Amino acid sequence: MPTKTKDATEPIHDSMFDAVLARLDVAAKIYGLSDEVANILRNPQKQVKVSLPIMMDNGKVTVFEGFRTIHSTVLGPSKGGIRYAMDVCDDEVKALSAWMTFKCAVANLPYGGAKGGIKCDPRTLSLGELERLTKAYTVSMADVFGANRDIPAPDMGTGGREMAWLVDAYNKVHRGDFPGVTTGKPVGLGGSLGRDAATGRGVMVATLAALKKLNLDSKKVTAAVQGFGNVGSHAARLLNEQGVKICAIGDHTVTLWNENGIDIKAALAFAKANGNMLKGFTGGVEIKSAELLTANVDVLVPAALQNVITEEIAINIKAKLIIEGANGPTTPEADAILQEKNVIVVPDILANGGGVTVSYFEWVQNQYGHYWTEDEVNTKHDASMNAAFDNVWNNAEQYKTTMRLGAYITALKKVEFGIKAKGTY
Ligand code: NAD
Repeated sequence: MPTKTKDATEPIHDSMFDAVLARLDVAAKIYGLSDEVANILRNPQKQVKVSLPIMMDNGKVTVFEGFRTIHSTVLGPSKGGIRYAMDVCDDEVKALSAWMTFKCAVANLPYGGAKGGIKCDPRTLSLGELERLTKAYTVSMADVFGANRDIPAPDMGTGGREMAWLVDAYNKVHRGDFPGVTTGKPVGLGGSLGRDAATGRGVMVATLAALKKLNLDSKKVTAAVQGFGNVGSHAARLLNEQGVKICAIGDHTVTLWNENGIDIKAALAFAKANGNMLKGFTGGVEIKSAELLTANVDVLVPAALQNVITEEIAINIKAKLIIEGANGPTTPEADAILQEKNVIVVPDILANGGGVTVSYFEWVQNQYGHYWTEDEVNTKHDASMNAAFDNVWNNAEQYKTTMRLGAYITALKKVEFGIKAKGTY
């Protein structure tokens, strides 16, 4: 049972769930959370692991591992994406599910937290293999998922295509039409306008809100964005539209620097025409991936991988503001260094909450069978992100702590209320 209390500065090794517990423990102490409630949150509510035998195109059967962890349903049905990647494992899914509980509470959504995934490399699977794998996973999880029970969404390696397959398999098992069983569906199959760009849009709104607190003008600041996928590319585009000069961008194929600002429209067009990759784009000089993180810019947006801002990187970071587009990009050890350097970190559970916020709007539209315009979605999203930002900022000020711990405290207050009001037996 994971009940040992860790200090946030203690080495965390490779466990993402330990990193969650480290932050949870520190926030719980500052806020004064009871041990009983803290212990409930330290242990995910339900963990399901399935084996998925799939007929491959070559006629041979390969067995894949599928996971789903429901961390909490205290505030509503659990919500969280499905990731297809080779490093999907119990620990990662547990950590991401807990973050979803806190993220939904920070965004003030009537949801708990969950996460799922399949250990696979989607880039090596054919379309048919991917469809069979997604449908086999859905059938295995048919009693776990449900529009009022547990609602998946896309995450790394999955998208609208997989969500459409998921709905199809779920509908066949349950003999009906249940679009609200997942979010992130294609527009036209119950998906919401604005969902695709929502996480990047949330990053932009959070950046503007933080710049305002620092009395900085978005038209006079520079930024570096790591990752040029769903989150990073939309964040770079939308920040650029607000006048932010994007001096560095990068993905898994290349990292580029241009002190005069990268032409983001050209980079987007290049990536679109080149399999979503930046390799070969000539809008900047090539630098090392780590150099993007320590570049001489005002704002750093890690929007690719977890655990990239380590102690060594944190020591050399020059940005005044970090907006965490990715989940878990900063290690707890790096957090302590950034705090000493007075770098403001807008944490993942706030900064990338735009995606789940618009997922919630999609689910509401599915329940009503009535669909909103993109402007309506964006207006509601921006108001919701700004309210969440202010709430976290105020809690950080009230408890004299960082925005990360302020975000955890914001979430703990709501989840604690739910646990106490519902009672235990
Ligand atoms: P994605 O698969 O669309 O894009 C990932 C990007 O990261 C790609 O550009 C890829 O090339 C890049 N990348 C991979 N390895 C890299 C490396 N070693 N160095 C630099 N770049 C690298 O994924 P996404 O949906 O944009 O998700 C990115 C992060 O944001 C993840 O942590 C995810 O959990 C988180 N997130 C996503 C959403 C969402 O709505 N998509 C919501 C909340 C959080």
